[in-house]
Amino acid sequence: MIYQRAIPADELFSAQLEMLMQNGRIATISANMLGVLATIVLFWQFVEITWLLLWACGVLIMLLARSLYMSNALVERSYQDRPRRVYWQLLLGAVITGAVWSTAYIAATFVAPAPVQYMFLLLIFMVITLSMGVTLALREYFIAHLFTSLWPIAWWCLAHYWDEANNLLVGLFTLAVCGVLLLVSNRVYLSFRNMIALNWEREAMSRELGDLTQSLRDRNRQLRDARRQLTDLANVDELTGLGNRRVVNQVLRDEINRARRSGAELSVIMLDVDYFKNYNDTYGHPAGDGVLQRLADLMQRATARAGEVVARYGGEEFILILPGASEHSALRTAERLKELVIAECIPHGTSEVSEFITVSQGVVTVCPGANLEPADLIKVADRSLYEAKDSGRNAIAFAGV
Ligand code: GH3
Ligand code: MG
Ligand code: MG
Repeated sequence: MIYQRAIPADELFSAQLEMLMQNGRIATISANMLGVLATIVLFWQFVEITWLLLWACGVLIMLLARSLYMSNALVERSYQDRPRRVYWQLLLGAVITGAVWSTAYIAATFVAPAPVQYMFLLLIFMVITLSMGVTLALREYFIAHLFTSLWPIAWWCLAHYWDEANNLLVGLFTLAVCGVLLLVSNRVYLSFRNMIALNWEREAMSRELGDLTQSLRDRNRQLRDARRQLTDLANVDELTGLGNRRVVNQVLRDEINRARRSGAELSVIMLDVDYFKNYNDTYGHPAGDGVLQRLADLMQRATARAGEVVARYGGEEFILILPGASEHSALRTAERLKELVIAECIPHGTSEVSEFITVSQGVVTVCPGANLEPADLIKVADRSLYEAKDSGRNAIAFAGV
């Protein structure tokens, strides 16, 4: 996966719009409203109060309309879908607000004495500077506001230099303020842009980190599954689904140790199918495989207790490991298994002991001593199995250690 490290231009643009509206909505309205209040206080002696209030209401309605527009754009996320349109509408708002102040100043020069005019001009500077901090996420917005509010004032003052000598000073001063604010705004704007870009990069990196962590987690899970499958393949007999000789040795070792620690008994049954070679010769190898599978099911039914394990030791020989089982209980299990096999009635025409499949079982029960190894136990079980075979098959023989 390739990750983009730098914020794309269109995302930067909509992030700027979002920041401007989020930060600027309340702050610019508050700054302008303060300006309106201060204007009323400044001019109430010089202008009819009705006109003053009408003007204030007009400005207020315009400010509220702007605020509503920004709220809507934020909620509907139109600054992402149609950023250019939102951009031009915001600029229009800035131009109208700026024009309100410049026309108010020019109108004030007709009705108020010079000191009040100058105080009004300072007030306009204040409103602009206050909103500068929050609207500079978008440079053009600030510039539009600055130039529509201050430029007309500056040029009007310069143009009316002959009426009032101080106007020259005021005009030049206003132009200078414009220039200084422009310079300062450039720096502030660049910091805003950097901040947006850095935020974006931080989010992109944390997303990337999240993706990487997720893919690592997936990879770990796959490895765990693969390991489990490998272990299963190494331990499970393909034909019967039982454990194989590896499992027999492992389980026997564990159970011998456990029985040694707890002093409990441990029994093992070794089982071999009678005249199975004949069966294969008569019915075919695939049929023989089917018999082994059916016998595996029966052995699992006969060993329902927790901890009891059935495994295929090799060929048609199976081992049942019965932890905690006494001689009596192991013989009972062997007996039950023998009956289950007989009850299954699998025809075996070439068996010399029955017309159905039968099995012989060698049972061994031990209280494991310090030196007992799995191989010793299997050897005794095997000997016991041959005793069962010798005694005529379809039989159970027992040996203690
Ligand atoms: P008995 O045990 O009663 O002395 O006689 P037997 O004919 O069963 O003799 P033995 O146990 O030695 O027979 C082993 C036979 O088991 C030989 C082989 O044909 C058969 N066998 C071993 N593994 C498989 C297997 O996976 N599938 C099938 N179908 N037969 C198998
Ligand atoms: Mg055999
Ligand atoms: Mg056999």
